[in-house]
Amino acid sequence: MTKLRLAIVGAGPAGIYAADILLKSERKFDVSIDLFEQLPAPYGLVRYGVAPDHPRIKGIITALRDVLDRGDIRIFGNVHFGTDITLDDLKKHYNAVIFSTGAVRDADLDIPGIDLDGSYGAADFVSWFDGHPDVPRTWPLEAESVAVIGNGNVALDVSRILAKHAEDLLTTEIPANVYEGLKKSPVTDVHVFGRRGPAQVKFTPLELRELGELRDVDMIVYDEDFDYDEASKTAVASNKQVMVIDRVLQKWRERETGQASRRLHLHFFAKPLEVVGDENGRVQAFRYERTRPDGQGGVEGTGEIREVPIQAIYRAVGYFGSPIDGVPFDDKHGVIPNHEGKVLSGDDNDLLHGVYATGWIKRGPVGLIGHTKSDAMETVSHVINDQASWWSPEDPSEESIPALLTERGVRFTDLDGWHNLDQHEMALGEPEGRVRVKVVARGEMVNVSRGEDEPLTDSDINGPAPKHASATPADASPKSDNGQAPRHAAPQTGAGAGDSAFEGGSEPAKPTASQPVSLSDLD
Ligand SMILES: Cc1cc2nc3c(=O)[nH]c(=O)nc-3n(C[C@H](O)[C@H](O)[C@H](O)COP(=O)(O)OP(=O)(O)OC[C@H]3O[C@@H](n4cnc5c(N)ncnc54)[C@H](O)[C@@H]3O)c2cc1C
Repeated sequence: MTKLRLAIVGAGPAGIYAADILLKSERKFDVSIDLFEQLPAPYGLVRYGVAPDHPRIKGIITALRDVLDRGDIRIFGNVHFGTDITLDDLKKHYNAVIFSTGAVRDADLDIPGIDLDGSYGAADFVSWFDGHPDVPRTWPLEAESVAVIGNGNVALDVSRILAKHAEDLLTTEIPANVYEGLKKSPVTDVHVFGRRGPAQVKFTPLELRELGELRDVDMIVYDEDFDYDEASKTAVASNKQVMVIDRVLQKWRERETGQASRRLHLHFFAKPLEVVGDENGRVQAFRYERTRPDGQGGVEGTGEIREVPIQAIYRAVGYFGSPIDGVPFDDKHGVIPNHEGKVLSGDDNDLLHGVYATGWIKRGPVGLIGHTKSDAMETVSHVINDQASWWSPEDPSEESIPALLTERGVRFTDLDGWHNLDQHEMALGEPEGRVRVKVVARGEMVNVSRGEDEPLTDSDINGPAPKHASATPADASPKSDNGQAPRHAAPQTGAGAGDSAFEGGSEPAKPTASQPVSLSDLD
């Protein structure tokens, strides 16, 4: 019987679902799957994006772990595609590859002052508080007044973690360095800005409601934002999600405030104009233009310019994919150009045989974890049907891969290694009654996984050097364990997908080479 040797690059939900779906599918050939992951632990943004105080969503890891624990998928962690293994290697050893490399970095926001000291990307901050190994260990939490730009769920995650008292995160899996950092934060006011009105936000009712439950945090909303136009009134009356959001906000309008030591302000109809700096190049204010409904569901500027004094600003305007070595990349939308998951060559849109994509790198960074399942089904069905155009590998043997990685000095981790790390993290949490405490340093993760005791590097201990404006994991991921510096993604400019990223409700847009992802979390 023919055998499909399949490589999947990226062990987030998209990659794991693709493997699972393929193994369970009806087909006329055997399958053997190797999953390559640049981090020593699997699960992508479920481990390194979903907020630590959302244990129910983090629990999806249990379902993903069940798939891996079945034992019919091999996982090679701590293996960076592009440096540790290349497309030529895969062609030599596999019949096809699916890329499921997701999106880890912030989309750009093109306003003056966005690169000032004290201006950060939400993705970087999320990576920090979720214990990603490739971001600095400390985060500069020195501001009393902070702005968060964006009206999607990531903006709310960032605002919540900034406003929450560190002790209230102690039941979660946050690493010790994150707790220590948050504990010292002098923050008193977090201001969230959205370009449109309360009836057009992209966050979900559950995430919004949660803000109102934070201990010792007042929710501040402003009466001027609730003078709804006809389009907003219709949205509130006809869309259940908008109706609930409106109800939550209206309740906050009536709430008594003034007792709490921290405040979370929601400002609507605020179009970002500029991050204003002081003479030392540090953030000192956020300047915006007041907008108003344009009568067609959008907004227009009023010409009224306002300024809020702040000392730090976070842009939560969406995530953006990174290019993969040797694979076409759509710079504008941050995705691998594809038709239903079949990768297209950059120049002439011809099919690149044997190369597929799924998840956020296929359709852009929008949608829930569950959406990556339907994505994977579409991609996998093409892999199955394309048998005639699979690659013909020179050496499809399973032994060749660990041998190749070992020969290259890659300290790869495997499923047993993940079990070791998993148990170790749970044991760290046990004395404090916590489910787990995450290990952050890459070298330590690898040591625990492999049962080794290699000395930790400087970067393990301190993390990579901080970069104030764009220290994304992709950019700041010197992987020192095998002595090879990964090739980093070139910084992107231009549009990014909205951080409507994980909104509930409707199926996300499916961009293909000719259909761009929808924009903007500023709305
Ligand atoms: C802050 C945040 C919070 C979220 N919260 C929720 C939520 O509460 N509920 C919900 O349903 N969804 C949520 N989501 C959305 C959810 O995380 C995504 O839908 C999902 O993770 C996308 O899956 P993916 O596998 O495509 O990408 P990812 O999860 O990003 O996985 C990609 C994997 O590929 C790996 N990789 C990348 N490049 C390489 C390389 N060169 N070599 C090897 N490996 C590589 C990465 O390390 C990563 O592990 C959230 C997203 C964010 C950003």
